[in-house]
Amino acid sequence: MKQEGQEVVAETIRSVLQDLRSQIVNGLITQENLKTALANVETAVGHRLRCSLQYSLRSVINATGVILHTNLGRAPLSPQALDHICEVAGSYSNLELNLDTGDRGQRDMHVQNLFERFLGRLDGGNGARKMQTIVVNNCAAAVLIALNTLAEGGTVIVSRGELVEIGGSFRIPDVMAKSGSILCEVGTTNRTSIRDYERAISQETRLLLRVHRSNFAIVGFTQQPTLPELVALGRKHKIPVFEDQGNGSLVELRDIAGVNESNVADSLRTGVDLVSYSGDKLLGGPQAGLLTGRTELVKRIRTNPLFRALRADKLTYAALEATLLGYIRRDHPSLPILRMLETKPAEVLRRSETLKELISGQTSRPGHLNLEIMEGRSLIGGGTAPTSSLPTYLLAVTVAGRSADHLQKKLRENDPPIICRVEEGQVLLDLRTVSPEQDKAIAKSLVTLSAS
Ligand SMILES: *Cc1c(COP(=O)(O)O)cnc(C)c1O
Repeated sequence: MKQEGQEVVAETIRSVLQDLRSQIVNGLITQENLKTALANVETAVGHRLRCSLQYSLRSVINATGVILHTNLGRAPLSPQALDHICEVAGSYSNLELNLDTGDRGQRDMHVQNLFERFLGRLDGGNGARKMQTIVVNNCAAAVLIALNTLAEGGTVIVSRGELVEIGGSFRIPDVMAKSGSILCEVGTTNRTSIRDYERAISQETRLLLRVHRSNFAIVGFTQQPTLPELVALGRKHKIPVFEDQGNGSLVELRDIAGVNESNVADSLRTGVDLVSYSGDKLLGGPQAGLLTGRTELVKRIRTNPLFRALRADKLTYAALEATLLGYIRRDHPSLPILRMLETKPAEVLRRSETLKELISGQTSRPGHLNLEIMEGRSLIGGGTAPTSSLPTYLLAVTVAGRSADHLQKKLRENDPPIICRVEEGQVLLDLRTVSPEQDKAIAKSLVTLSAS
């Protein structure tokens, strides 16, 4: 027990002995079983020690089929991103040093060129415009610093249909108040026209804001001006248009997953002046907030003192740089989020069948555990594509005499914990979000469960 440290070991022994004493006082341990209790002390100390030294933040298996699960840490990183984090984290780095000149550099320089390759020169209908990108802690921070820099003391026009709550108390009206800008809401919940925006424009207007409806949809009798219409209005009145795009996708989602969602380039191509998005949603990188837009606007944001408070750390830059290089190498399979989006239902079916056979072959009580494969849908999740889902296959698990909730809890107690969905009294496992190396761990856990 040397490696645990003397202090924590002594403390644990004391607490185990204390429990033993109270059990004796309360008559739970008698003359007859005292010997056994004493013999178990060492095991009890070992167990308690392991528990108290276990990490709270653990790796789990996501069998929910929700690709960007906010409660499960959103995007898993590519192996290259992990390697790069390790390399940079354990030593000094050129985070803010220009190795060519020896001068102080900006941390953004590490990803600037990469973003430029994807988003640097998108024609917004008025010739190629040069775009820059900066990185902050998350997309909420990106929205805050953009509003504060570009609209403090002035008004920002937003449709009433876009005054959204993204979750975790990130509400557009509240963030706007914190940024020191004044909300000017126009239109109605379901219908807002471009005329509504135009009528609201005044001397005080600093921005036209479009917020992506990330986690809900308005259907039925609806109207919303297109981004190009907003851009045209902004140009006419010389007011920048800022879109909180959110999902951060750098690929054609229609092509790779048949999902009808726009990406960052689509937004910039409309001529929007500034776009904010997350690093750990469909981009598949680390938690970060990205702001891409007209060089002049981005420069102003960079000099805002808030930038220092909201900036990202070196580990984020390392992961982001490696993630973007994955796109440049066109190595989509290395990026877990893209791999999951691109996985064909037939592949999920094949793995589910293999898993079913593996379990059936190993279980000691075949009639006890019932496995069925059925069609279902995987969700993109993470507040990105509220109405989009992908066809998949689900492994429905039932164990005789056990409720689905009980089974779900048992799977959660597995090491590593397995997180699943429960629908209509059945535990459902979607292997789309499980990495193939984890299939065996699921099989093992279900075999153990069926035996108990
Ligand atoms: C997800 C999302 C946010 C919040 O992003 P975080 O990176 O979680 O801070 C803000 N706006 C939109 C439109 C989003 O989809």
